[in-house]
Parts: sequence; structure tokens; C-alpha cells
Amino acid sequence: MPLPPMSLLDEVVKRIERQGPMSIADYMGLCLTHPTAGYYMSGDPLGAPKLGSDDLADDLGDDLGGDFVTAPEVSQMFGELIGLWLADCWLRLGSPDPCLLVELGPGRGTLMADALRACRAVPDFLKAVDIHLVEVSPSLRQAQRRSLADQRVTWIDTLAELPEAPLLLVANEFFDALPIRQFEKTAAGWAERVVVLAQGGDTLAFGLAPPSPLNAALIPESLRDAEPGSLVELCPAGLSLAAYLGEHLAQQPGAALIIDYGPARSASGPTLQALRRHRYHDVLSDPGRADLTAHIDFQSLAAAAVAAGAQAYGPVEQGAFLQALGIDTRAAHLSATAPAKAEEIEAARQRLVDPAEMGSLFKVLSLTSPPALAPNLDPPAGFAAV
Ligand code: SAH
Repeated sequence: MPLPPMSLLDEVVKRIERQGPMSIADYMGLCLTHPTAGYYMSGDPLGAPKLGSDDLADDLGDDLGGDFVTAPEVSQMFGELIGLWLADCWLRLGSPDPCLLVELGPGRGTLMADALRACRAVPDFLKAVDIHLVEVSPSLRQAQRRSLADQRVTWIDTLAELPEAPLLLVANEFFDALPIRQFEKTAAGWAERVVVLAQGGDTLAFGLAPPSPLNAALIPESLRDAEPGSLVELCPAGLSLAAYLGEHLAQQPGAALIIDYGPARSASGPTLQALRRHRYHDVLSDPGRADLTAHIDFQSLAAAAVAAGAQAYGPVEQGAFLQALGIDTRAAHLSATAPAKAEEIEAARQRLVDPAEMGSLFKVLSLTSPPALAPNLDPPAGFAAV
């Protein structure tokens, strides 16, 4: 990946000198989406086992490109099954035409391309969908344009640009990239963790802002009385997106699928992490050059959407969800068609569903319109109580 055109560290240092300590959310937002030096703005961070030629990976002597690998890049089966889930929802919603088909943070466009290919069996669905992609990165928009060259696609910056219409939405590993704030319980109340200048003034360190009674109101109720020393992360951007989705689904028939990693219920503990070339990295060194992510608080996201009028299902574990949608049958079919690839297909299937790999840490949450608007989506495929 090319070096950022300017040092984001200098920019962060200058801002802290001018304005004082920076919230972790502001730091994370700058690191990921600063217009020129932000992590997502300059290159393609995604690697895949099949990309053996990447020179970053050659440095490591392994065969992974980029900094991290996502499920759609592991196997086409992931996007295909999600495509069929979306088409199934569309049918159960009464085949609305037009219907918005939205993806948040589509990366290289692989999931959407695989999904649409799988839906060739439902041609009316393909005719009805109006594809919108929410993507901040110019270089990834370019990659999406290539993957979806045969589709009519609209790129937007935020969901607020969507017209009022029935909605199907998918987001894989998008919410984990949204900026989080961290709060620590002290003897004097909840205090926000912030980024400060370390001694000498040219490196960064974590500090603690003075506690404020206003902070307590932001902490999920189940965690508010935590022991001193406990740390809680909040994702204001994720919560407002969930509320926005909830409002849209309360007005228009539709369904959303949010796939990401994190615990099923709100939990305390720091999860903010930096990843570079498939290795953990220090969060405060090399701002803009490592991916920064944090676990998703599915419980709070679901609560925000439900408060706005939507219905929530799950989260269920990714492994169980993909198996309910038929990944084992799909893998067997692909292997029968391409026996030379059977081992590779089985390895990918396992990576997606095995609890020791992505199967359990990754979870799937569905938000739908309330039963009055979407009576046949109660529950959507893969969310039936067992
Ligand atoms: N969903 C893809 C990519 C995940 S990486 C996959 O599974 O492979 C996160 C994606 O979200 C990237 O496309 C990144 O550019 C985009 N992104 C991150 N923050 C964003 C923001 N604030 N607004 C819009 N897109 C964002």
C-alpha cells in the first residue's frame, strides 16, 4: 500500500496541541477516514488467501495480501447465501418493485457481485432492485465499479440520501469500523478515555478526562453499576445508524442483515484493536496505516432500532446462520462440480462456520419492519427459534 501523502501523526499532534485531548472516536475517525491520509482512503486493505502476489504479503513470507480477510473474500458461498436470503425476504415482502438494495461498506464489491449472481434464479428480484452502495473510500468505490460493471449502481455517502422506498440492506464488517468512545469507571464516576500527547509531545498516549455525571447516562443500563476499573465502549455512529434504519423500516417494508463480530449481549472490556498485515498492532502508533476496529454491541444496536419502530432478530452465530441457509449443501455441490477444488472449498466452508474460526465470534443480526408491515418475515430465514 502506498505511504499516506502526509503524516497523520503530525496532524493528530497538532490538533491535540490546539484543542486539547482528543476523544478515541475522533482519533479513530481521523485514522480511518481522513480525506487523504485515512486508512480506508488510500489503498485496498483487504487481503484474500488467493492473492499470493501482494508485495506486503511477500514481506511476511505468507500468501495473504492486505491487512485482513473478510468472509466474502474467503469464499463466494458467503455472498451467494446472503443473496438468496435477500431474494427470499423480497419474495416474503410481496415482491416490491422498485426495492432499494443497499450495502454499507462493500469493500471490493465481492459480496454484492456474488449475491446478484446467485439471484439469477429470481430474475424479477434483479429487475426490481435499485442498488445503492454507501462507501467512503474512492479507491474501494473504484474496485466496486469493476466488480459490478454490469450493474446500475448509485454510490452515496450516508443512508440519509436514500429515497423513501422498500429496503433490503446488508452490512458485513462495516459497523466494526465506526468510531467508538471509551469510558472508564472511576471512584468518582464514569470518565472518558482520551488520546493525549506523551512526554516530549511528539508521541501519543491514552489519558482520562475528568469524570462527569453526564457520561453515566450514555452507558448501557446493564453495565452502569460496573466495578471501578471497568471499561465500556460506545459507538454513537453505529447507534444512530441503527436508529435511522429502525425509522426507515417502521415506515417502509424491508429487512436488514448486519454481520460483524462481538458478543451477543452488551459487555464491558476494551476491544479496540489495530491490525496491520494480518498482525495485531499498537493502536496509537502509525495512525492511518493500520486498520482500527472494535467489537459490535449487538444488544445496543438492536435496542436502538427497536426503539425507532423496527423488529430485531438474533444475533445468531454466523456458523449456525450459514448452515441454516444451506452452506453444507452448497459446498458439496461446488465440490462435485469442481473436484480439483474440493479441498479448498471445504477449507473455506470450515473457516466460515467453525466456532474456532469465524463461526462463533461473528454474529448476524436482522432488523425488519414490524409484523404489521412484513407479516411473512416473522422470523426471516436463519432466525427461527431452535
Ligand atoms: N464489507 C466488505 C468490506 C469490509 S471493510 C467485506 O466484507 O469485504 C469496511 C468497509 O467499510 C470498507 O469498504 C470501508 O471503506 C467502508 N467504510 C468504513 N468506514 C466507512 C464510513 N464511515 N462510511 C462509509 N464507508 C465506510
